[in-house]
Amino acid sequence: MARIKVKLVSWDEIVDWAWNLAKIIKNDGYKPDVIVALARGGYVPARLLCDFLDVENLLSIQSQHWTEAAKAEEKAIIKFPYTVDLHNYRVLVVDDIVDTGDTLKLARDFVAENWKPKELKTAALQWISPVAKFKPDYYYIEVKDWTWFQYPWTRLEDTYQFIKRMMTETYKETGKREWSYKEIIDGFKEWYGIDVGDRYYKDALNILIEKQFIKYDEANDKYVLLTM
Ligand code: ADP
Repeated sequence: MARIKVKLVSWDEIVDWAWNLAKIIKNDGYKPDVIVALARGGYVPARLLCDFLDVENLLSIQSQHWTEAAKAEEKAIIKFPYTVDLHNYRVLVVDDIVDTGDTLKLARDFVAENWKPKELKTAALQWISPVAKFKPDYYYIEVKDWTWFQYPWTRLEDTYQFIKRMMTETYKETGKREWSYKEIIDGFKEWYGIDVGDRYYKDALNILIEKQFIKYDEANDKYVLLTM
């Protein structure tokens, strides 16, 4: 049994989901003049929607989570709050998934207030309905059971963070510090129920070495947990 629910999403599925999302937007009669990609997750979906909806203008806005010191809560902020004049344009703000919904809502409000478009709508490939505080105007998949979607554009980042979490938790439970490559791969597949392939595992381990979370012990052919 996997420890967290993860679904590995392929590039082909992304194209298919974006194509279907475009159809929903088109059937509703909305024709945006400008698409705004919500960085970073919205980039690929936004670019595909430009293609499928025949939109030439693509802008971006980045939102980021800010952990307030001394506070457990996390707050989303607009990272580079620049202003453009969009009062003559119909706008569509695009993200990959709406989970809590904080970031897409924040981006929508920021664009409405500062870029003042003629019309403004939001779209995401997926919407996690039981947890989201914000529902996008358009979505293709309604997710009813919370899942981590391992998108192709975060594969390496997710892989190293997943390995890090597995090693940290295992250390807390058992005190284990040393892992062979095979133990890491077998553990990863068991913990997360997916297989991302050797090149991602190898690059992820190298990143964790660079970050000085683990070191490679050549004599024993083992990866050793350094911190904690
Ligand atoms: P929050 O504001 O709490 O981060 P959002 O719903 O705004 O929640 O999600 C922000 C970004 O984090 C998403 O655009 C996506 O890139 C990533 N993300 C959040 N939840 C998931 C998930 N369940 N699976 C994959 N990526 C996710």
